[in-house]
Amino acid sequence: MITIVQGDITAQHVDAVVNAANSSLMGGGGVDGAIHHRGGPAILRECRELRASRYGSGLPTGQAVATTAGDLPARWVIHTVGPVYAKTRDRSHQLASCFRESLRVADELGAKTVAFPAISTGVYRWPMADAARIAVTTVRDCPTEVREIRFVLYDEPAYRAFHEAARAAG
Ligand code: ADP
Repeated sequence: MITIVQGDITAQHVDAVVNAANSSLMGGGGVDGAIHHRGGPAILRECRELRASRYGSGLPTGQAVATTAGDLPARWVIHTVGPVYAKTRDRSHQLASCFRESLRVADELGAKTVAFPAISTGVYRWPMADAARIAVTTVRDCPTEVREIRFVLYDEPAYRAFHEAARAAG
């Protein structure tokens, strides 16, 4: 089931929230900043451990990895790195990969409810309508045990773009 809500991803009562992280896993602005701010230092501690063990040169674009959610209502944060939008280069496959890989990690964790932000549409400048189309069609076509996939959009235009994408996807 796909649901679309307007709100703050850090306030979602779901098993896992997805973070639009950057490859350093060391925090940043937007969703990333909000998750670390509200989730507290436990998240950054696990991110540091991941950098020291599995991801010495950072989490590659399109991949996903889980940590604790610290003080958030969710149980886990799934960090994924969206591509930076480029007019001259089609990176849609990397954006789609963020959704697929996050759901794969969610399945590994046993998460049944997962909240996604509009990955790559902030600092990474992906046009909202196109990002919404890729997000909705990718999760719709992705085999997963997750029962609810919730898109959490920060503002009204983004919320409308996701509704329109869901309508167009049928
Ligand atoms: P990226 O670096 O992947 O572009 P950003 O975090 O800069 O990621 O932005 C992704 C989207 O998330 C933007 O549309 C932004 O408006 C939205 N956003 C920012 N803060 C929040 C939040 N707390 N909850 C949900 N969405 C948010």
